[in-house]
Amino acid sequence: MMSGNALVTGSTSGLGLVIAKELVKNNYRVMLHGRIDKTDGIEKLYSEFSNMDYIAGYDDSDVSDKNQVAQLLQRAENSMGRIDILVNNAGIQYVADMVDFPDDKWDAIIAINLSAYFHSIKHALEGMRNRNYGRIINIASTHGLVASHGKSAYVASKHGVVGLTKVVALENAGFNITCNAICPGFVLTPLVDKQIADEAKSNSRSIEEERERFVLQKHPNGRFVNEQEVADTVLFLIKQQSMTGSSVVIDGGWTAI
Ligand code: NAD
Repeated sequence: MMSGNALVTGSTSGLGLVIAKELVKNNYRVMLHGRIDKTDGIEKLYSEFSNMDYIAGYDDSDVSDKNQVAQLLQRAENSMGRIDILVNNAGIQYVADMVDFPDDKWDAIIAINLSAYFHSIKHALEGMRNRNYGRIINIASTHGLVASHGKSAYVASKHGVVGLTKVVALENAGFNITCNAICPGFVLTPLVDKQIADEAKSNSRSIEEERERFVLQKHPNGRFVNEQEVADTVLFLIKQQSMTGSSVVIDGGWTAI
């Protein structure tokens, strides 16, 4: 039996894809979304799922544009009938010292990592309030709680997501709608692989050395967070009724220091 309808933004890759797979495994119907190569990308994406019965479709809206966010939400509602679970996950990164940080990178990171979360939640709330049910899960980051050098836009966007999550939780507590953030430390996805490759190149280190350095400098437990740990947390949060406005930290002890 179907458990509910979910939209996972940025589910063509990394964390979003593993979250979408976990939802499908647990009988949720999922609308997939993200930017992929049009030639064979959709076929490749669909091949990740053994049970296509629970895939409502794929949408490639560019969430840096608020009109496209509205279109994405509308399409998801049209194809599934309603959105019970909204997982805001699409995100990008750019690393540079403040004085060298390109304005357009700042604008893009704030638009994709923060404003898109606001616009998608705003759209989804109407139906959720009418039905008196909703689960909103925002993928933030440990960088929603602490800072790192070179990540002004990313850290600002993720702190914004943590704050937004609390307001959404408060304003919707009377509608059986919960809103929580997940704050993962480093996970080996394309977003982090690129940072590791860039750092390795500028520090003349091998990828393996840079990976080790990356994780050891932040995670006291000396390992990367696994995507599945984040996907399991999404499932856990869906099942909770009283847990709202919280930030679930999965960071190997980074913020315990
Ligand atoms: P990823 O690069 O593997 O996936 C990002 C997804 O977002 C892709 O599906 C991509 O197509 C989509 N996306 C990016 N820009 C978009 C746009 N303009 N319009 C539509 N879709 C767009 O990265 P990931 O590591 O899986 O990141 C997923 C989320 O997790 C992000 O919000 C990221 O900030 C967060 N996060 C990642 C880590 C990590 O270590 N990887 C840690 C903490 C938080």
